[in-house]
Amino acid sequence: MHTFSVLYNLHYRFVEQKTIYTYCGIVLVAINPYEDCSHLYGQEMIQVYRGVGKQVRGLDPHVYAVAEEAIFDMSEYGKNQSIIVSGESGAGKTVSAKFAMRYFAAVGSARSSSSLTGIEDRVLASNPIMEAIGNAKTIRNDNSSRFGKFIQINFTERFAIAGAEMKTYLLEKSRVVFQAQNERNYHVFYQMCAAKDDAMLKNLHLEDAVNYFYTGQGGHGRIAGVDDRADFAETTKAFGLLGINADQQKDIFRVLAGLLQLGNISFASGGDEIAVVEASMQQGIKRLCSDLYEIDSTALDTWLTVREIRAAGDTLRKPLNTSEAIASRDALAKVLYSAVFAWIVHKVNESLVEKAPTPSPRKQHVDPMSTATPATPTTSSKGNRFIGVLDIYGFETFDINSFEQFCINYANEKLQQQFNQHVFKLEQEEYEREEIAWVRIDFYDNQPCIDLIEDKLGLIDLLDEQCRMGRGTDVDWLNQLRSSVALKTKPHFELPKIQEPAFIVKHFAADVTYRVDGFLDKNKDTVSEQLLEVIKKSKFPFLREILGVEEQTATNGTGYSAVRVTNDSGPQKKQNKKTVSCQFRDSLRDLMMILGSTRPHYVRCIKPNDQKASFTFDPKRAIQQLRACGVLETVRISAAGYPSRWLYDDFGKRYRVLYPEGKAMWRDQPKKFAEKACAKWIDDHSKFALGKSKIFFRTGQVAQLERLRSETL
Ligand code: ADP
Ligand code: MG
Repeated sequence: MHTFSVLYNLHYRFVEQKTIYTYCGIVLVAINPYEDCSHLYGQEMIQVYRGVGKQVRGLDPHVYAVAEEAIFDMSEYGKNQSIIVSGESGAGKTVSAKFAMRYFAAVGSARSSSSLTGIEDRVLASNPIMEAIGNAKTIRNDNSSRFGKFIQINFTERFAIAGAEMKTYLLEKSRVVFQAQNERNYHVFYQMCAAKDDAMLKNLHLEDAVNYFYTGQGGHGRIAGVDDRADFAETTKAFGLLGINADQQKDIFRVLAGLLQLGNISFASGGDEIAVVEASMQQGIKRLCSDLYEIDSTALDTWLTVREIRAAGDTLRKPLNTSEAIASRDALAKVLYSAVFAWIVHKVNESLVEKAPTPSPRKQHVDPMSTATPATPTTSSKGNRFIGVLDIYGFETFDINSFEQFCINYANEKLQQQFNQHVFKLEQEEYEREEIAWVRIDFYDNQPCIDLIEDKLGLIDLLDEQCRMGRGTDVDWLNQLRSSVALKTKPHFELPKIQEPAFIVKHFAADVTYRVDGFLDKNKDTVSEQLLEVIKKSKFPFLREILGVEEQTATNGTGYSAVRVTNDSGPQKKQNKKTVSCQFRDSLRDLMMILGSTRPHYVRCIKPNDQKASFTFDPKRAIQQLRACGVLETVRISAAGYPSRWLYDDFGKRYRVLYPEGKAMWRDQPKKFAEKACAKWIDDHSKFALGKSKIFFRTGQVAQLERLRSETL
């Protein structure tokens, strides 16, 4: 029943009124209009919401309203805030997150004492950079983020932006080496190829993107409405703004150009299924090894097709077959790309930390009249608060689901739990605190599903154990799941009725069948040690730097190197590197800790149709998503309880006209006033409840009182 009214309301506002934002309880629902709506986001619009504070809920729903509320709550309650944006791919998360950031930048710069800090510009400039290296065209979204992002914007005590810090989650590395039809690799590659005659890219001998295996698998690689060449200029400009200088940019592009060369190395069978590098490749290999990477080409040639195995103290050389050689090449490409990615994120973060106000004589010279105190630095300094913006992939279920969906859906279980706790538990606690009678409403607690995934002897543990065993296969792991006694008792775990290499997790949003193929490799995420050694011996300093070679001598590595090496070598050389799922579990734990310490605000993005048609609403798709992000459940809960509430004082002030008989009662005895006024006007006494410090109303009652109030005035 509620489902219908929610849907009707959203549909009406979206299609008839062309309104993309609607509140459903505490959640802001944003429906992707698939139409240019710049009029909604201009400077004038920012002015509408700016400084409105608590009253912002009385204005039209907007992502700016949520941002304003976060700023207000931060200043009012002295508490860190977070804006959690979720939704499926293409629903509008990244666009919403960017507008929230733009709002903070606008408000922050107006409040900062000096307009010269530029920190707001730097925070915004992180967007084009991250999109260049972390976004790609998929069939769902031409600009799909292939990583999760949490950006924490730090404010000074006067609520100017003091700096920011970004954390990223689970970059989709496989895209570097593989793209499905009509999809693309990361934008940066196409930007480089489109701008190949740019001075910055001279000597890299770039060709059109279609000529590279790593950028040509999905087709012609053009996107309607996107000018890759112009975007290249924007990317380099943003790099510059964030303190990544021209030489460093050249180094980055050189590594990326090398990746394209690497991907073009193909293998032929040299008999007995043994791979050899194709003879026609010599030109490309030479370019890669001497011009781009400055590495030993014979060594590269060797270790692309051979692997060293140490067993019982002996070292053996095992020739690879062609598919193993390809896998080995691709693994190297993925490691190199994620190392570049991690290096850039690290640099961006360095530039977003507002430097301590060092009394630089030159600076003082530039602005001798300024009495402004420079923004107080540091994330750690007390008194400073932050607002975090989380833009992370929503719950996913495809025809075929694999390790990636498993991790994404695991993250969504955690976020959903946090949402549940916030909405439902806090709600119930308030009723209890206020000592009002109310029927306990059950909500779906997904802790058991989370336990299934992350607990001792849960799915991640079992997967890691299998990965440690060296020789195990995906099917071995599945067999272990099948025979696990612990799993048999878990209600959220199931095996498919038809025998197939898959298992089922009953997530809060839907039951998802995961195919086990590739789980082990993706979780281990290894690269041949020897191959990596070849690269680490490069004479190209930047390449060594991103691989953390210099870092090893330092006592305190920065930890941004994402390099991992194979474990083929047996226990004596065991590297205690964490698996992908294990790292992910740890970073999710950190994220949940941070979010748990904030006051959350939720934006749920809805993709209204699969055709990217403007202002077109497919109710079936909408319901699916509203359910998957917990909106329907929230509405049910708050409709079943008391969605509106007022402190007695506030209620008295606003509605004193409704009970003039009480004279000054509204001021002197506000609780008694509320009781009398409501008894007078609301026939059904179950429509309101008197708590210790607040009066609570069922849905619709406040609107009714407002009507009476304006009629009486
Ligand atoms: P997600 O991050 O959820 O995958 P995006 O934020 O990248 O999705 O949005 C996908 C596309 O949808 C955008 O490139 C844009 O064309 C369109 N879009 C999303 N939100 C809006 C909006 N508020 N106004 C106009 N177009 C939007
Ligand atoms: Mg996105």
